[in-house]
Amino acid sequence: MDFRLTEEHEALRQSVREFAREVVAPVIAEHYEKHTFPYEIIRQMGKMGLFGLPFPEEHGGMGGDYFALCLALEELARVDSSVAITLEAAVSLGAMPIYRFGTAEQKARWLPKLVSGEALAGFGLTEPGFGSDAGGTQTRAVLDGDEWVINGSKAFITNSGTDITALVTVTAVTGTRPDGAKELSTIIVPSGTPGFTVAPGYSKVGWTASDTHELTFDDCRVPAANLLGERGRGFAQFLRILDEGRIAIAALAVGLAQGCVDESVRYAKERHAFGQPIGNYQAIQFKIADMEMKAHTARLAYYDAAARMLAGEPFKRQAAIAKLYASTVAVDNAREATQIHGGYGFMNEYPVARFWRDSKILEIGEGTSEVQRMIIARDLGM
Ligand SMILES: Cc1cc2nc3c(=O)[nH]c(=O)nc-3n(C[C@H](O)[C@H](O)[C@H](O)COP(=O)(O)OP(=O)(O)OC[C@H]3O[C@@H](n4cnc5c(N)ncnc54)[C@H](O)[C@@H]3O)c2cc1C
Repeated sequence: MDFRLTEEHEALRQSVREFAREVVAPVIAEHYEKHTFPYEIIRQMGKMGLFGLPFPEEHGGMGGDYFALCLALEELARVDSSVAITLEAAVSLGAMPIYRFGTAEQKARWLPKLVSGEALAGFGLTEPGFGSDAGGTQTRAVLDGDEWVINGSKAFITNSGTDITALVTVTAVTGTRPDGAKELSTIIVPSGTPGFTVAPGYSKVGWTASDTHELTFDDCRVPAANLLGERGRGFAQFLRILDEGRIAIAALAVGLAQGCVDESVRYAKERHAFGQPIGNYQAIQFKIADMEMKAHTARLAYYDAAARMLAGEPFKRQAAIAKLYASTVAVDNAREATQIHGGYGFMNEYPVARFWRDSKILEIGEGTSEVQRMIIARDLGM
């Protein structure tokens, strides 16, 4: 058992940490305030190879692994979660389904752009009426000659409406199984396809510098060849993508939780009350010690889930545990960091205010905390 990072992983972590501090930190508050997408940061992340971290070199990737992606997400989220979720959604939800399930032609057409960060892809699973119960999908796709005709809508889709969004993978009902259940399949819908409408961005509580839209498909026609993988495998595909994605979200949550520790230690040393730095008071020290303990143990949980996944072992339960625990810890730490900052913690100019607003979605996106508990309980045979 060895939790130390390899030289490559450590070097990656250091370079993303520097990038987050030197490039992201100085400008992200303005994007956050104005709800603008940070194209220039994303372009630079592309040049660093972050969008290609877990993909092989033959597709233009860095030849790394999923754990490398997690480390990068943790370091980015330590400074800002909008940038981190943009990378997480682009890689683990956007490019990964094409890499895992796509045909040779689909990979050749889409992966080079996605892996370089030149283009982004969205993952269209959630609908206005169905999120946790994703099997309830209502969007339909009917084969008409050599085209799929798609009708329906998707809600809260990350990276679906930027100037560089190339496509969205859409989960749709494509028929009925012999047992009467819905047959779900995944279809690639390129941006700009007639009948595919992207609504204006949502007004969100957090992640305000990330891109999220409702999508509508109205007799939207795409070639039959845009089916991703086998027909009827949509359910299995999104379960696999979400299992992996939970490790990535756990890493992002650990980053936010650690960022709360960083900011709290700094502030506690500077801020004076009753004649001395507030960090001299044990009540504040104990809060920060608990925050550090939680960030550290949540990190071990995602390291473990990632190690199992990379070893080809079952990791569903460990990914759910990591996501559930890390997101809880992120919310706890954001609340305490804000408390330590007093009134300034409620001011948007302080990073902890952003952390607080960004933390709650971690208990909701890519499976709510209740859904993670359901997964863990089911895996225990209940
Ligand atoms: C900013 C943002 C970005 C997102 N990005 C994407 C994306 O890129 N792609 C995508 O497909 N989706 C995306 N989502 C959607 C997200 O994954 C869903 O919001 C999430 O899965 C929850 O679904 P829901 O909102 O429909 O809530 P619901 O499923 O309606 O749940 C409502 C509440 O009921 C609880 N609940 C539901 N069923 C049970 C049960 N059986 N037992 C106990 N409690 C239960 C839930 O835990 C929750 O507390 C995003 C959401 C947001 C807010």
